Amino acid sequence: MKRLVTYVILMALFLTGCAAPADPDTAQESIQVIAMDTAMLITTYGEHSVTAAYAAEDVIRDLEAKLSRTDPDSEVSRLNAAGGETVSISQDTFALLRLAERCRMKTEGAFDITVAPLVAAWGFAGGEEYRVPSQEELDALLPLVDGSAVFTDSRSPEGEEYKTSGDYEGEWTCTAALEPGQAIDLGGIAKGCVSDLIVRVFQEYDIPRANVSLGGNVLAWGTRPDGAPWRVGIQDPARAEESGAYAGILELTDSFAVTSGGYQRYFEEDGKIYHHIIDPSTGCPADSGLTSVTVVADAFKTSQPWMGALCDAYSTALFVMGEEKALDFWRGCRDLEAEEPLFQLVLVTKDGRVLITEGLADRFTLGEDSGYAYEVVS
Ligand code: AMP
Ligand code: MG
Repeated sequence: MKRLVTYVILMALFLTGCAAPADPDTAQESIQVIAMDTAMLITTYGEHSVTAAYAAEDVIRDLEAKLSRTDPDSEVSRLNAAGGETVSISQDTFALLRLAERCRMKTEGAFDITVAPLVAAWGFAGGEEYRVPSQEELDALLPLVDGSAVFTDSRSPEGEEYKTSGDYEGEWTCTAALEPGQAIDLGGIAKGCVSDLIVRVFQEYDIPRANVSLGGNVLAWGTRPDGAPWRVGIQDPARAEESGAYAGILELTDSFAVTSGGYQRYFEEDGKIYHHIIDPSTGCPADSGLTSVTVVADAFKTSQPWMGALCDAYSTALFVMGEEKALDFWRGCRDLEAEEPLFQLVLVTKDGRVLITEGLADRFTLGEDSGYAYEVVS
């Protein structure tokens, strides 16, 4: 059997991030971190640029140690191996599990972390071979996909139950349990969560400008040293192997931009491509007519302390939903405080179109030689 296995490490590219002229008034630090199965790049500016860049790396390492599916000591692995027993987890993991459940409900199950056994069956959980499971195997695994069955609990030292979804301080004890046979995979939301925690690091160290690329998850912080917005390239999914082949370019300040695409990780068997974003309703790679989804949002949304994680979960879910449902979903997600859409979208379709929601119309330039038709959606 001919098997071509291809793994594309995606770097959503800051086109001028490192080549920008040095800011004469501020120091600059740039570090690369290999973590969460991808190459990450953190560039910080300002007096505390070095401290902040390494503090951001600590955030990545800490979260990877908690959430990895391949590290048997991670909280996620312990939970997956617990056979339905309750295990103790950190506050970060608890917050993320609660957020993942909110995203599952909002997206009507298009985002569901309990898709993990199916992700593993296709060989995308890390460590195993890529393979096409039989329909019988998929049918046996599909009943395990049910995020509503994931139990989470958090208690204060006085036994008070955690209720609100915002931040909280203190020595709360958190626990979680799955149904026997179930497993979770936070790969669709973890990097977004990292970018939220990095925002907090940048605020703590007064970082005036930075760019962070976490394999498909971008944080464009402040402006470039010359005062212009950061330029973020959206990879052309049809030319995934060509770096610098863009469907278009976004100009962003203080924003998250998170891209999900089938081209980011896939294998080919018998002439057919199978990618890593699984439709929880079929157990198969989503075939929705979209080749990539980018979710863009303000990094300072005070109404949403986990906006980066939301962007990440939604980019995965909207890829599963397809064009029509994704745009309806976008229309339904409003920031009630700011009275505007909660986020904006760039959708690339299999039939050669790039769709931009109206809030990005003046921040997006179609790639000159991309060959895509361009539509603004309202
Ligand atoms: P992303 O690159 O953010 O779109 O996330 C894709 C990763 O999330 C996959 O590699 C899986 O680990 C996991 N995943 C795949 N399909 C889903 C889904 N429908 N809901 C939640 N997580 C998923
Ligand atoms: Mg995602």
